[in-house]
Amino acid sequence: MGVEEIRKRMRTIPGMDILLAQEWALPWIERMGREAVKRAFNTELTSLRRRILAGEIEPGDGFMERVKELCLSSLAAAGKDNLRRVINATGVVIHTNLGRSLLAEEAVKAMTRTARGYSNLEYDLKKGARGQRNTHIEELLCAQTGAEAGLVVNNNAGAVLLCLSALARGTEVIVSRGELVEIGGSFRVPDIMAFSGAKLVEVGTTNRTHLEDYASAITENTSMLLKIHPSNFRIEGFTLAPEREDLAKLAHDHGLLFMEDAGSGLLVESEALGLQGETSVKACLEQGADIVTFSGDKMLGGPQIGAVVGRKSAVDRLRKYPILRTLRVDKLTLAAFEATLRLYSRGALDDIPTTAMLRLSQETLKACAESLAEKLRARIRAKVEVVPVEDAVGGGSYPERPLSGWGVAVSGHPAGGAGHLQALLREQDLPALCGAREDALILHVRTLREGDAEALADALSRLEKEAAGHGAEC
Ligand SMILES: *Cc1c(COP(=O)(O)O)cnc(C)c1O
Repeated sequence: MGVEEIRKRMRTIPGMDILLAQEWALPWIERMGREAVKRAFNTELTSLRRRILAGEIEPGDGFMERVKELCLSSLAAAGKDNLRRVINATGVVIHTNLGRSLLAEEAVKAMTRTARGYSNLEYDLKKGARGQRNTHIEELLCAQTGAEAGLVVNNNAGAVLLCLSALARGTEVIVSRGELVEIGGSFRVPDIMAFSGAKLVEVGTTNRTHLEDYASAITENTSMLLKIHPSNFRIEGFTLAPEREDLAKLAHDHGLLFMEDAGSGLLVESEALGLQGETSVKACLEQGADIVTFSGDKMLGGPQIGAVVGRKSAVDRLRKYPILRTLRVDKLTLAAFEATLRLYSRGALDDIPTTAMLRLSQETLKACAESLAEKLRARIRAKVEVVPVEDAVGGGSYPERPLSGWGVAVSGHPAGGAGHLQALLREQDLPALCGAREDALILHVRTLREGDAEALADALSRLEKEAAGHGAEC
């Protein structure tokens, strides 16, 4: 293609002013603002120029119509919210990439109320004077865990950092090698420890650490024994870790603090959630921990928060520590957390989505899967089967132990195999994340919310029609 020909083709690309003056562009300018529309057009024009230069498109009849289509789809994409609701059909309840816990309706209401109006966030209405934001949750947190005192920060990583900085800076903290974990999203115990100014002293081996290992590592510089929940992995076989009571006694005999990073933070016994072998925060404290930290948005089912509970003397030291201010929890989170804790006080575990989803019975799950299968069979021609599936707690909680669940397998869909269908479903206006097994798409019902079954049926039926349409063209 000669230079002249290229110039000629380039000239057929409409200019920005022409595009902005098009009738179809006006509603978008109204909705998104002129600058945002210009940015979207610019991206499209740049890509058009590149494709014409590369000889990929030849302007000709109907070119303007083509440009209009491209611009409109780019506007539609730019006009969509970046952070959107998605359907979780993976069966992973606390899905870290999908926002961990969903909030209880009560918590959502509390957030809305607090967002709309002024509140007594830091105002003591009795005294008519400045108050503390932490007072709104401290009593509830203590009631739920049996602790003397408690406070909250932005997340559990922050809680651990705060505790180590305020309670162990410049001193030695003893940790078992079997508990030096990395949690997804780069929470690494050794790094947090280094940053806090505490000195990490590793004892024992990956699979076995004896009480004696801790005891012989204690020096006059030691201030703390730290136990960490190995949230996202499990070592099986020849393993050993001292009992909590023994660690607590060892710490207290030497005048040391015994701290535990409990990770997920169970406010009820794990059996109440149908799980086994996890220790509740209350039990950790009863067994001698002086300080326990945990997340608000893992198994607790609340907003993103880091809670610290334990001895008043230790918590009081945290309250005065300057970096506490940098980890401050915002009012909406606090409102949601208070509401969630109040649900725990009432024992309303089925009103908290995370705990409710964990507690679902096999019968309920199977019935949900059957109902989803019925909906799908009425709408699509692909093969639809109710199948047992493995769900997961997720969020680095309850590692390696799958939850039995039920789901629906879809195979022989004309749009393509499981991998392709998964990709197509992620691109829908209401994106859906689904599982796959062999070449079947697997829809796990445990994590579906109201209306999701309909939306999945809509999407799969739309994709079937589109695939059929394309088939007819060929
Ligand atoms: C998840 C987890 C953390 C990090 O908590 P965030 O609330 O995500 O900051 C820290 N420690 C353990 C043991 C965890 O499981």
